[in-house]
Amino acid sequence: MDELVRADTVAQLVAREGQAAVTDAARRVLRRVRDGITTGHLNPEDLDHELSGLAATLEKEVKRSQTYSLRPVINATGVILHTNLGRAPLTLAALDHIHNIAAGYSNLEFDIDAGERGRRDLHVDRLFESLLNSDTEETTGKDSGHPPVSTIVVNNNAAAVLLALNTLAERGEVIVSRGELVEIGGSFRIPEIMAKSNAILREVGTTNRTTLGDYESAISENTKLLLRVHRSNFEITGFTTQPQVAELTSLARKRKIPLMEDLGSGSLLNLSSIGVHGEPTVLDSLHAGVHVVTYSGDKLLGGPQAGIISGDRDLIARMRGNSLFRALRAGKLTYGALEATLLEYIKHDYDSIPILRMMRLSKQDIAKRAKIVASRIQAPKINVELIDGDSILGGGAAPSATLPTCLLALASAVFTSEEITSRLRKSDPPIIARVEENRVLLDLRTVFPAQDDQVVDAINKISN
Ligand SMILES: *Cc1c(COP(=O)(O)O)cnc(C)c1O
Repeated sequence: MDELVRADTVAQLVAREGQAAVTDAARRVLRRVRDGITTGHLNPEDLDHELSGLAATLEKEVKRSQTYSLRPVINATGVILHTNLGRAPLTLAALDHIHNIAAGYSNLEFDIDAGERGRRDLHVDRLFESLLNSDTEETTGKDSGHPPVSTIVVNNNAAAVLLALNTLAERGEVIVSRGELVEIGGSFRIPEIMAKSNAILREVGTTNRTTLGDYESAISENTKLLLRVHRSNFEITGFTTQPQVAELTSLARKRKIPLMEDLGSGSLLNLSSIGVHGEPTVLDSLHAGVHVVTYSGDKLLGGPQAGIISGDRDLIARMRGNSLFRALRAGKLTYGALEATLLEYIKHDYDSIPILRMMRLSKQDIAKRAKIVASRIQAPKINVELIDGDSILGGGAAPSATLPTCLLALASAVFTSEEITSRLRKSDPPIIARVEENRVLLDLRTVFPAQDDQVVDAINKISN
């Protein structure tokens, strides 16, 4: 080991990267060689080869250990809220604010005026208050006809549902329609989260049909909560029925049992003007009289990963007092990013929120860019075509909602679609595309315009 690190060939590496980094890397490389010998994977000839190339291996190892595993990628899938690709990109204001807040100390839990301890949730509660309590005609078209709401933030929406159920229904029954016992993915299943929250699931109705009467006849002295879950990743069509939110809220009011809705996406804006229908806004639900709404910060809101609970002040206060709230709490990076995102809503500056900007791009806007990209592609073995297609909202929002787009379709007589996507993934930054009917499809809706050049370069390099 000492010899290796002192060898002339390694000296340059040590001078550049420091003794400690090289020693650590050498330890790992030697361990691999040793393991190779003891397990019999390395025979004597290989060993000679291995040792002669040790300096180069060492250099690679140092480099590998010092590069990030979490990397930016170019999302050319056209799925705007892609859970595997980190969901919503943040606004520039959010990045600035995080930088300012996190580079030093902040008043995260400090009341500057009073000079004493403060509450972290106040930073965003005031913004939610003005977004959800005032007459925001632009967002709803109607004024807020619901009692004042307050809002708390936890790590993600799964945590929000857990906290809300545990606070409102521990050891009691929660009535849910059988058509809403959903799995969102990543092991978030309503029956399981219910069990973890120590509430008892009381299923009513059938998969396709649940009536108000089903809820009503299931109510007993053990009932603590009525729960509605937004079908965010599937649809039930055909012979179906489901009570309106307003019918459920009047039942809840009559029987003095709170109604909670897990909205999932929780848009703050009505998206029907851009052609996305059937996605209720947070205000729609509160306005209809839902007592507690849970939603994600990084879905249609376009902010950081967070679980947001808005609702009746006294119910939210109980959640704030639950020790689970402390266990599930969000950090200052989240509060900073969320505060900055919400301020864009307050200023009506929707185009500065990347996912809203992407959603509002017209097919013509995208086609214009796609034509320019296509005209600059010079890859002899690749055929490029512009075709009509659909972008997908994704991230558990309006399951069937798509937006018309113009796609770059790549095909080749030499490379398979898998070879093309694999080469695109190997470019820097990696480009993620989708494959349909043996063609590789790239949707510029989710590609930032500043990345168009990188897309051109990467495609041009495929044939090399
Ligand atoms: C996405 C979603 C969740 C989970 O939210 P996370 O922020 O991913 O934890 C829960 N419920 C519904 C209805 C959802 O769409």
